[in-house]
Amino acid sequence: MDKGFSSDTVDLAEACKVLAKSRSVQAHLKEEVGSAHYREALQMMKSGNLNGDLGASVHDLLANMIDSDADTVWSGFIYQDHEKWTVRVNECHGVFWVWAVESDPVGYFLDKASAISFARTNWDNVYEDGEEPDDEDGEVHCPYCDTTESCDHLLLVVDKTFRHAEGGLLYEAFNTSWAEIIEDADDPDFDESDPFYELLQRVESLADAKKQSSQDSAPGMSSAYDLYFCSSKKRGQVALKKFISGEI
Ligand SMILES: [Zn+2]
Repeated sequence: MDKGFSSDTVDLAEACKVLAKSRSVQAHLKEEVGSAHYREALQMMKSGNLNGDLGASVHDLLANMIDSDADTVWSGFIYQDHEKWTVRVNECHGVFWVWAVESDPVGYFLDKASAISFARTNWDNVYEDGEEPDDEDGEVHCPYCDTTESCDHLLLVVDKTFRHAEGGLLYEAFNTSWAEIIEDADDPDFDESDPFYELLQRVESLADAKKQSSQDSAPGMSSAYDLYFCSSKKRGQVALKKFISGEI
């Protein structure tokens, strides 16, 4: 789930050029390395070259300071399987970084907007604290236009509990196909679940996205629904043709 990459990040050597400008960082540095080494250490930070023993100890003290002396400037969560995993953007004297459960740090950001943007996009389903995750309102949003209404992207809404299509471009074709399958089966012990699943597999192979709405995520609903989407109206039309012709 962790995409773990950003082109906006810098390493500590680059970040310390920014930290070097802060008076409180300077004071902290002086205290830690002592007056005798302070000027040299500060020069290293300004140039971004943390070399030798002094450079190594400056590196460590800055890494510690960033960890312990930070303020949270943005706070949100990754929403997965009905659980919330905290994501934070922290700041320490103009240097930003993203903290998330079970994720390795990717580096530092030199502006807040880039750090927040990374926090919001590095994982799927990231919300800012206070935002309601999609499925908690019980409605499924189109992944292409975000509507909860019927739209051009909607290929099929199917009630899996009662095995019946309820909407979308394939609605009629799907119900017709399903009725034919039922009619053809004259065995009284005919098990509907396998052929129904196979029919849904055909729809899934034509769709660009699939979402589920279940009793669990939508209180008051008695059925489990699958919703299939195509990324454009045109792709939906092509899918309909292929479905009717039996090509897929
Ligand atoms: Zn749509």
